[in-house]
Order: sequence, then C-alpha cells, then structure tokens
Amino acid sequence: MLVTKIRCPMCGHVQEIEVPENACLPFYKCNGCGELIQTPTDTCCVICAYSETKCPASSLR
Ligand SMILES: [Zn+2]
Repeated sequence: MLVTKIRCPMCGHVQEIEVPENACLPFYKCNGCGELIQTPTDTCCVICAYSETKCPASSLR
C-alpha cells in the first residue's frame, strides 16, 4: 500500500495516509483538528488536492 503525507487545509497538520491504488479518496479525517476534509470542487481527490503526490487513479486518465 502506497503511503503519502497529506496536509490539512484547516489546521496545517501533516499526517501519513494510505493511497488507494486504483480509486480516488474523496475525504479523510485529520488527526490534528478532527475535521473531515473533503475534496475541493474541480479536484480529483484529497490526495491530489492536499498531498505532495497525485493519486494513482489520476495518472491513469
Ligand atoms: Zn486539521
């Protein structure tokens, strides 16, 4: 399982999350502030929006 660092847009907390290999991740829960972080409009998923990498699914398109 691929793991990436994702940065919370609410509080700036950085945590590692697992990246689905062939699916998008529409939301994740921040361990810093407890917010459920949703994908911004016009963005593939939270991986693409807030992490240092793109999700594997987006590179297949
Ligand atoms: Zn947060």
